[in-house]
Amino acid sequence: MSNLSEFKNDKKEYFFQLLTEEKIEECINLFSNPLNKCWEFIDDNGFTALHRSTYLNNLKLTEIIIKKTRENIESNKFNLFINKQSNKGFTALHYSSYKGNMKIILLLLKNNADYNIRNKSGLNIIHISSQTNKSTPIYYFNQTYNMNLMDKDKNGNTPLHWACFFKSDKVINFLLCYNYIDVNIKNNDGLTPLHLCVSTNNIRGIKKLLIRGGDINIKDNKGENVIDLALRLNYKEIYNILNSTKNKNKKIVFNPYTIIIFYSYHIIIPIIIILFNIPYINNNQNTLIRFILWYIFFYVILYYFIKTDPGNVKNYSNNYFPLLNLIEDYDINIDDYCPICEIKHSENSKHCYICNICIDDFDHHCIWMGKCVGKNNNHLFYLIQFLLIFEFIYNIIICLESLENKKIPIFNYSGIYYFYNKDLFMIKYIIIILNIIIGIFGTYIVYPLIMFYINVLKKQKEEKMNKKNDNDDSIYNFKFYKQSNININELENENDSLLV
Ligand SMILES: [Zn+2]
Ligand SMILES: [Zn+2]
Repeated sequence: MSNLSEFKNDKKEYFFQLLTEEKIEECINLFSNPLNKCWEFIDDNGFTALHRSTYLNNLKLTEIIIKKTRENIESNKFNLFINKQSNKGFTALHYSSYKGNMKIILLLLKNNADYNIRNKSGLNIIHISSQTNKSTPIYYFNQTYNMNLMDKDKNGNTPLHWACFFKSDKVINFLLCYNYIDVNIKNNDGLTPLHLCVSTNNIRGIKKLLIRGGDINIKDNKGENVIDLALRLNYKEIYNILNSTKNKNKKIVFNPYTIIIFYSYHIIIPIIIILFNIPYINNNQNTLIRFILWYIFFYVILYYFIKTDPGNVKNYSNNYFPLLNLIEDYDINIDDYCPICEIKHSENSKHCYICNICIDDFDHHCIWMGKCVGKNNNHLFYLIQFLLIFEFIYNIIICLESLENKKIPIFNYSGIYYFYNKDLFMIKYIIIILNIIIGIFGTYIVYPLIMFYINVLKKQKEEKMNKKNDNDDSIYNFKFYKQSNININELENENDSLLV
């Protein structure tokens, strides 16, 4: 008896030795002989042959292991075998997710692998794929089994925490496409994904989180925020980035108020200027006509801006396939796909999580006009910025002109005339002050945009003259500046993160 078990032990050792040396054909031969009962082998870490083959990422071996085991043991035992947890609680499905091998994952699932099993630290398959930068299994499990992308392990870490900690750039991009992902969620130690990016010196991750509204003021359980952390670890570059965004980075969310303010300003202000300021101007009828023509011109431009598709990638793409089919039938890696639009990213496209579409040559989402700025409308957008400055100045000039003269009614019908005679014209002073305040505030917002645009144009001109054919990404870098007010110089080299 003892001889027999010794013999069996030798076989087991031999089998695992073959696996370690990756002698796959010999492993297959050994496993294929039912007399060896290789499915019973478990090594010191609690790994079965199935764990090891999924870790080796070997489909053929995994197929043989599953097939032979299924043939030779009862179905309830087979289920136990498929879902056997190692000493640390890992299953074969965990390892295939770790490797991101969809073929093996689908094979295991077909053979009753349980996707809900967690390891001893509470990690599930999504956490594990996040650690190794594999977005395809995450997408698959989320879509097929509705697995939660914000799920927490025992230490309170979400998939985003793990992706940040392991510098899994693609998974960070992938997760941030979903607008419900909370970038400021804390784990049990009070650490946010931003803390983890700082602690691992993951600058790209930091920038992505900041753009998505990563809060630099959140303190962990020890009372340390990310700036303190960068200081303590002596990461100067990170410290500078964080410091330059201090109190400025706010997540851009859908905000009806900015949109209401923008559009009502352009309707209400001209009306009150016509009613309360223009009548006081000497040559008021000509001024009125010019003023109205100008606003008609402005509205036409604005209308074209609103009407133009900013560059919805879906509209261009004629080869749309549901992502799940691509994964299941063609074993496609979806790292380059947007999980929401289910479409392949073009070179500079980015998913706008407010409009929830992918925009080609994404520049930024304008919270004032409530529209994305991208490939098709960015020139219109910057034209509007110039027009806005003109508008502020023009309105102030008309207001100031109205100071000099006495009231001269433009219209002869009684209502307006009555109004004028009632000496309600203190209002015009309020309007003057209002327009000056709006002008200053508006210029403060618009001016940097215009300066940036001029710089981009200059750069493009220079590059044309130098006949450089390199892609110019500078214009797209500006979105970082606008969205999180990071010092633009810091972002010169940041191109990869454009592909969300
Ligand atoms: Zn998208
Ligand atoms: Zn948008």
